[in-house]
Amino acid sequence: MVQIGDVVVSFDVLKEKFLCNLEACKGACCIEGDAGAPVELDEIEKLEEVLPVVWEELSPEAREIIDRQGVVYTDQEGDLVTSIVNGKDCVFTCYDERGCCYCAIEKAYREGRTDFYKPVSCHLYPVRVGDYGPYKAVNYHRWDVCKAAVLLGEKENLPVYKFLKEPLVRRFGEEWYNELEEVTAELERRKMI
Ligand code: SF4
Repeated sequence: MVQIGDVVVSFDVLKEKFLCNLEACKGACCIEGDAGAPVELDEIEKLEEVLPVVWEELSPEAREIIDRQGVVYTDQEGDLVTSIVNGKDCVFTCYDERGCCYCAIEKAYREGRTDFYKPVSCHLYPVRVGDYGPYKAVNYHRWDVCKAAVLLGEKENLPVYKFLKEPLVRRFGEEWYNELEEVTAELERRKMI
């Protein structure tokens, strides 16, 4: 692992390859798993603000859950996560004509209807950010539903940290990301990764 400021990044993030392949996975990360997506405290307000913008696009089941418990809940591990339908689908999941899942918030953002892209944890997937006292840990999360993304990433030779440049800059800043790039280049030069 490598440390940039108070953030520790695992070598997997620097050397494993990844490029989402929506044709293959159909956006399964929005609906698989047994909990919602992690949400930062200050994102609850953002989710509530965007709710009226996307409300008509959400499923009746999702609206019912949101009416009952709100946009987030605390999961079994004590983490704040987006509310889910049927114990797995994020309430903000919608489907296109091909049956692919997409995020209603991201769609609204792309159409200029909100300035909130989506929770940063969704933006950062397949990386997960953990808290270790004063440090943050950035780890690569392996998940079967993303198998095709690993193959496509290998084909295109795209490391996880480059695939995630935009959300990593969003989360940790441009200066931090530039330093990560420099350190990674040095590790590669020394054949340490
Ligand atoms: S993160 Fe995984 S499941 Fe989600 S869109 Fe990318 S490849 Fe598909």
